[in-house]
Amino acid sequence: MNAGKRIALISVHGDPAIEIGKEEAGGQNVYVRQVGEALARQGWQVDMFTRKTNPTQSSIVQHSPNCRTIRLVAGSETFIPRDQLFEYLPTFVDQLRQFQRDNQIQYSLVHTNYWLSAWVGMELKKHQPLKQIHTYHSLGAIKYQSVSEIPAIAATRLEVEKTCLETADCIVATSPQEQEHMRQFVSSQGKIEIIPCGTDIDRFGSVSSSEARLRLGIPKSSLVVLYVGRFDQRKGIETLVKAIGKSIFPGLADIRLIIVGGSRSGQSDGIERERIEGIVDELGLREFTTFPGQVDHDELPNYYAAANLCVVPSHYEPFGLVAIEAMASGTPVVASDVGGLKFTVADEKTGLLCPPQDEESFKEAIDRILSRPTWQKKLGKAARQRVETMFSWNGVAQQLSDLYESLNEEALEELTLISA
Ligand code: UDP
Repeated sequence: MNAGKRIALISVHGDPAIEIGKEEAGGQNVYVRQVGEALARQGWQVDMFTRKTNPTQSSIVQHSPNCRTIRLVAGSETFIPRDQLFEYLPTFVDQLRQFQRDNQIQYSLVHTNYWLSAWVGMELKKHQPLKQIHTYHSLGAIKYQSVSEIPAIAATRLEVEKTCLETADCIVATSPQEQEHMRQFVSSQGKIEIIPCGTDIDRFGSVSSSEARLRLGIPKSSLVVLYVGRFDQRKGIETLVKAIGKSIFPGLADIRLIIVGGSRSGQSDGIERERIEGIVDELGLREFTTFPGQVDHDELPNYYAAANLCVVPSHYEPFGLVAIEAMASGTPVVASDVGGLKFTVADEKTGLLCPPQDEESFKEAIDRILSRPTWQKKLGKAARQRVETMFSWNGVAQQLSDLYESLNEEALEELTLISA
């Protein structure tokens, strides 16, 4: 193993080894895990650091010979919402450095994820020579435009995000829209490269629609509209449910709305699910709607393939993995015309884009696609092609690997200069 090809991926609150689809476990966890595993296949030695949230969790999870998740104890070993994690970060940094000392490991590269890890990366940089690459996953400056209550941590977050953009060796924006937002709302300084998120094109797209429907017990004649994602008000599930309530199809055809995603009773995702169920009942949609709960990536390809279309009604989405998973499965996407979705979904070619929270517009888009099966198939085919060309994990990991290699060369040159 080339000792120079070693990287630490840091994801304080997004455990890459955890079950996806629950509160605070979503795209970032998938991103870090997939990037880590794909990099390991390309010859990198990958250590992914996260915070331990339960005493029963293993401290080290080996995913493949060169890729592992390392859980550090920082604060109590329980779930702590991300807005309350900042005070535990100095301990996280200490624990990471201790792990390095115990195992005699040096990282010349760290790729940090989300602003909490950005801070960790910047701290590490004070103690050791390393290059920091950062992916935001969400920008405070955008998020705080759409929330009614600004948390106490907001000022710290905005400051960290600005400093990170100005000082990291490279920022990875996952879409041109995210890059624009960084320039517009965060800082005009700093180096940014656009490298999108990816998806497993062998997994998503591996099953035909008829086979998937057989497996899920859905008749061939049903019209299936799918949502996949966390229960969070900003995901806009309400808009989808109301659009289905207005659609011409309930009563005309056997329409089925499937809402996939995990929730825990009494937690914020459980409360949102109850709210959504309340709207479903109010609109008389209960008999058309199912909530299968959290579904893992082995099972999800069946849901995407069985669907006539997948709806991503988020108020904002920095990238939106669900859209490309559906597209890879040959399923058109109706999505909000925001953030990364503007980049992944080609309007009128692989699906349709609608103004966020505009249930009338979502209703029209859903009805247009459901009423034209030939067009639906054409959109689905083009969607699959778009993902194959632009968003496969291996392609994405190759682009990241090239970026790391170039920064690694710089780092090694600098080290040589220092020791000369
Ligand atoms: N997901 C899953 N099972 C579920 C719900 C969601 O595996 O029951 C996955 C989904 O397939 C996707 C991720 O969670 O890979 C959500 O990522 P996205 O970027 O769409 O949204 P985020 O959660 O980051 O806001």
